Amino acid sequence: MNEFPIERAKQLKPKPDPKTLVFGHNFTDYMFLMNYDAGQGWHDGRIVPYGPLQLDPSTMVFHYAQEVFEGMKAYRRPDGGVQLFRPMDNVRRLNDSCERLCIPALPEDVALDAIKALVKVEEDWVPSEPGTSLYIRPFIIATDASLGVHASHSYLFCVICCPVGAYYKEGINPVRIYVENEDVRAVRGGTGYTKCGGNYAASIRAGERAEGQGYAQVLWLDGVERKYIEEVGSMNVMFKVDGKVITPKLTGSVLPGITRRSCLELMRHWGMDVEERLITAQELFDAAKAGKLEEAWGTGTAAVVSPVGEMGWNDEHAVINGGAIGALTQKLYDTLTGIQWGTLEDPYGWTVR
Ligand code: PMP
Repeated sequence: MNEFPIERAKQLKPKPDPKTLVFGHNFTDYMFLMNYDAGQGWHDGRIVPYGPLQLDPSTMVFHYAQEVFEGMKAYRRPDGGVQLFRPMDNVRRLNDSCERLCIPALPEDVALDAIKALVKVEEDWVPSEPGTSLYIRPFIIATDASLGVHASHSYLFCVICCPVGAYYKEGINPVRIYVENEDVRAVRGGTGYTKCGGNYAASIRAGERAEGQGYAQVLWLDGVERKYIEEVGSMNVMFKVDGKVITPKLTGSVLPGITRRSCLELMRHWGMDVEERLITAQELFDAAKAGKLEEAWGTGTAAVVSPVGEMGWNDEHAVINGGAIGALTQKLYDTLTGIQWGTLEDPYGWTVR
């Protein structure tokens, strides 16, 4: 286990009421920092009081978005302990993102130990009310103060945390989603399979448009033929059609979600037929018309699973399972949340205390 020095905060913040938490607003007392410099590599991992970073206005990340991030959670178990869910998968995905963005990889053990050490220091910030958790946001930014378009020679790795309230406060209500024809989130050969800020910047306009029309999320199509389903909002997406589960395959423009992987592994373990392949929007609307689109749901760390009750595409509308959550969606939700919060046994070795 790597150890890191801790600079103690002079004063600790009051903990917010978990019932009124707004996602991503209340940060904990500490953050983890580590620098990269050419010649030195990654060095000086440390835990310091949470606070502003001072950066030169020419710092590369502000101009060319050379940065990557992750999103994961720490969960309070019924026995009072705290656990992470498949944290090494997040570390590996962070390094996959680094490779695409020309950012030097983090040593996996150092990155995992950094996350564990910060969560340990902030243990009291992990809420215990049902459905609540501590969201963890590791990220790396290019810190050269220079406007030349090339890879930075220096970087900062930072981890911050914020307590988050229950995603479903009023029960799991299926959402309405809209197939986006104009904007695309990512293209093959681009950065869609990474978590880099640019992907999210590109997604905002369609998200705003969908919200303006009363939809909760955008259903993204591929960037070339505008035919194939890719993701829903910032979640992966799965469908149960005529008894069989299908999900878009990882073509390079789809983020390999850890919840996606977990759902696929669970369903295969349950002996279900699950297919990762190209899926056209037309195929789904045809299946809906034929009464064969049984369930649809998004998967991601934030919501775990988010049932889709209705899909809109041009003038077409499809209502799924009468707008109610389906049995398989509910089973996946119950199993995953049970393992994550430790109310169910973890036979897969996914949790790390
Ligand atoms: N797709 C996108 C674009 C995302 O931002 C996320 C959230 N990380 C996901 C899918 C779901 O990934 P995960 O299950 O690892 O949270």
